[in-house]
Amino acid sequence: MRVLREGIAVTVSDTVNSSFGTLFVVATPIGNLDDITARALRILGEVSLIAAEDTRHSARLLQHFGIGTPLAACHEHNERADGGRFLARLAAGEDIALISDAGTPLISDPGFHLVRQARAAGVRVTPVPGACAAVAALSAAGLPSDRFSFEGFLPAKRAGRRTRLETLREEARTMVFYEAPHRILECLQDMAELFGAERQAVLAREITKTFETIKGLPLAELALWVSQDENQQRGECVVLVAGHQPSSEDELDAEAIKVLDLLLAELPIKRAAALAAQITGARKNRLYELALSRKPQ
Ligand code: SAM
Repeated sequence: MRVLREGIAVTVSDTVNSSFGTLFVVATPIGNLDDITARALRILGEVSLIAAEDTRHSARLLQHFGIGTPLAACHEHNERADGGRFLARLAAGEDIALISDAGTPLISDPGFHLVRQARAAGVRVTPVPGACAAVAALSAAGLPSDRFSFEGFLPAKRAGRRTRLETLREEARTMVFYEAPHRILECLQDMAELFGAERQAVLAREITKTFETIKGLPLAELALWVSQDENQQRGECVVLVAGHQPSSEDELDAEAIKVLDLLLAELPIKRAAALAAQITGARKNRLYELALSRKPQ
């Protein structure tokens, strides 16, 4: 199977060499250590090596659970170039676990290159699921969760962040963002400006930890609430924003759509949309958007 990521063709191999070891992608807790699974503990204890984003950080986790498996660094700066040494050990039949500092590896964390290289080399890659801040936040936010869009971290600089948010204005699914605490206020303010003050949002902070806070308010009110309490600008946070709901003003009635379709059969898109707007009183921009989707230029 070939998938596209950032414009690069990536080959995903489905052929597994059974003499190779397995790469286990193991989720670790995002705060409360009790959230590690029994299977994760067993596998971390059984593998030959644990590839960790930060070996010092993970050493404390392993020590807490009495696991003595050796650790090796696998972070964003070395995983692409040094993947070969992990692959060599997997090819020699050893099992390796991949972990990140918290939660699920690859989710705004290192691991993509190693997993890709391992699969391409015919290594079996197996997930050991567990905590993930995005999913934990979504599960408790009370926003629509049947479809959602994981947006990860927004660009750190304001201009880049606003440009990205602009592209998401009409996203209909619930959006899930990770954000650094020192940027949370300006992020919410930009969201209120670009998505609308009334758009419903939830700030999920310090999930599973002592000061866990899950607060839902319209964006402008949420930004104000965060601005008035510095404690809300500390710790780790996930921001969830309800998807765009077209207002009744944006909705086209059946009559306007029928007129547009008739005109589209005879006229160029722009002209058909303009005339349909004049005839029916519907919004020209909405008609134009619909016309584009019915008859791409
Ligand atoms: N791989 C992790 C996962 O599965 O969620 C995410 C790693 S990413 C580097 C770290 C970000 O995840 C934080 O900046 C924050 O946005 C979010 N996060 C992690 N732990 C969290 C927690 N306990 N409460 C709220 N957000 C958390």
